[in-house]
Amino acid sequence: MPATHSRIAENYHAVLKRLESACARSGRQIDAVTLIAVTKYARMEWVRSLIRLGVRDLGESRPQQLEERVPLVAEPVRWHLIGHLQRNKVRRVLPLVDTIQSVDSLRLLMRIEKTAAELSMRPRLLLEVNVAGEPSKDGFSPHELATHWNEVLSCKNVAVHGLMTMAPRAADAESTRPVFRHLRELRDRLVSVSPESIRLTELSMGMSRDFDVAIEEQATMIRIGSELFAGLNA
Ligand SMILES: *Cc1c(COP(=O)(O)O)cnc(C)c1O
Repeated sequence: MPATHSRIAENYHAVLKRLESACARSGRQIDAVTLIAVTKYARMEWVRSLIRLGVRDLGESRPQQLEERVPLVAEPVRWHLIGHLQRNKVRRVLPLVDTIQSVDSLRLLMRIEKTAAELSMRPRLLLEVNVAGEPSKDGFSPHELATHWNEVLSCKNVAVHGLMTMAPRAADAESTRPVFRHLRELRDRLVSVSPESIRLTELSMGMSRDFDVAIEEQATMIRIGSELFAGLNA
């Protein structure tokens, strides 16, 4: 449907404009930030529109929908799992994704480590941190991650590339800034107690309503859903 495609194009370009302004404000290069289109509520036709527009990073939050969609896309896209993964689905998900961004517990990490060894893979992972300590959200607490850091470092079959967080829903984006800053400072602290090879370069933070602030706080990946599909009915 051309009307749908042009609406998505308009939305996408508006998001890119915000991304560019945030980079300009914070003295960052635009290619330092990867836009991940979150397609969990999008129709497949909308996903195709985004791919036509040049989007190559797609985020799904449910392993089942991810599994259904991966074979439907012929273009070389990178799929990111951004939602909770049960340990019994690790084996099925690993071959499908570029990155699992939502590694939210040591038990899950250990299962991925074991399965990756069996499959002779070295998956890219981000560790999800529940910075604000919201009971409704998954993720490591900052304290837990620091305490168990040596166990994370002992995993040799995975590549931990950084941290991911979801800020609490707030009335204004500005009030989420401390959460993003906290994630960055946690990353810096973990890097300082890690071997040289552990750089944790990726900070996946910022969604439709707050990604401008996340970019100012050094996000390298932003995860955008609703803003790309504004004005469309699922
Ligand atoms: C849905 C979702 C997003 C996208 O949120 P929007 O507000 O729709 O941009 C980002 N990250 C995660 C983990 C999500 O589940």
